[in-house]
Amino acid sequence: MTKPRLYLSPPHLMGNEAELLTEALQSGWIAPLGPQVDAFEREFAEAVGAPYALALSSGTAAIHLALIEAGVQAGDEVVVSTLTFAASAFPVVYLGGRPVFIDSESTSWNMDPNLLAEWLHKRAQLGKLPKAVVLVHLYGQSADIAPILRLCQEYGIALIEDAAEALGATYRGKSPGTFGLAGIFSFNGNKIITTSGGGMLVSHDERLIQHARKLATQAREPFPYYEHAEIGYNYRLSNLLAAVGRAQLRTLEERVQKRRWIFEQYRQRLGDLPGVSFMPEAPWGRCTRWLSIILLDERETGVSPEAVRLALEAENIEARPVWKPLHLQPVFQGCEVVGGAVAESLFQRGLCLPSGTGMTEADIERIAAIIRRVVLRS
Ligand SMILES: *Cc1c(COP(=O)(O)O)cnc(C)c1O
Repeated sequence: MTKPRLYLSPPHLMGNEAELLTEALQSGWIAPLGPQVDAFEREFAEAVGAPYALALSSGTAAIHLALIEAGVQAGDEVVVSTLTFAASAFPVVYLGGRPVFIDSESTSWNMDPNLLAEWLHKRAQLGKLPKAVVLVHLYGQSADIAPILRLCQEYGIALIEDAAEALGATYRGKSPGTFGLAGIFSFNGNKIITTSGGGMLVSHDERLIQHARKLATQAREPFPYYEHAEIGYNYRLSNLLAAVGRAQLRTLEERVQKRRWIFEQYRQRLGDLPGVSFMPEAPWGRCTRWLSIILLDERETGVSPEAVRLALEAENIEARPVWKPLHLQPVFQGCEVVGGAVAESLFQRGLCLPSGTGMTEADIERIAAIIRRVVLRS
């Protein structure tokens, strides 16, 4: 008999989603915007400590609008972390821009500030600076923001933070996503909170959010008839989904605690295995452990991450390699890459384990037992 499937990071309802959704339905405000969207924006802004927030249909839409607000145009270069999901870089290409990929450092697995500094220094001498930096905070962990922010300020480059995976994390006590010109979050089904699909753009700049709000609503000018002076998008979040987001947001801290607990359970059960290590937690803040990730040193373990993945799959358990670096993706072939070896090594050695907040200790025990069996070949 096959056991129930354990997914990597499935949506998890924790309480009052139905209540808020019913409230939204009964109010008659189904679409497109409405009081739930307004409240979600307000509550989200407060939760992350950003003055202004704009609820959108996806995190990808939020990156797209952030790049537009940063002034990115056809032919511009935009620096992007190489170790990330492709959605961090796709919107650069929507605008006719060219991504330049920067390798990770090994403390947080995020963009290496030293590599960025060297590259910007060279580019400044050539008079060819990029328009923006998309800094990704991967797997629930903040990048080392301060030196990257300083570089962006020094060279006059817009900093956009892709915090899609990092809601609930901290950097020196504050939420990543709130340091640069704009920050984005995602409420896709696999993220720490979900609206089934959605995103948020945050900023300190009220005019930026106001203008992005206009663009996201088909760029309607304030006229009684439909007047358009700019190209617009249909990127707003529905009032119903915002109600689900509000309910989920209320349990954010509980979710972070649960994900961190899951990580600890894995560490206790697998930490003694030779050749097995874990994603580090950087000293500058709290990692949410959105995903629990192990690294396997094949020379020591004698088994590849893929062999472990297949053993888990055979038992109806979903595990996945670490993001394939964007500079290795066929679609980004020919883009410049600065470094790359750190991200490549993480891709080769890393395995993301099921980390959903609905998991029980028995689930973790089941997963850990399989990994122990494969690694110890017992
Ligand atoms: C999920 C994700 C996105 C995209 O968010 P969507 O809401 O799915 O569009 C962007 N960047 C990173 C790093 C992500 O993990």
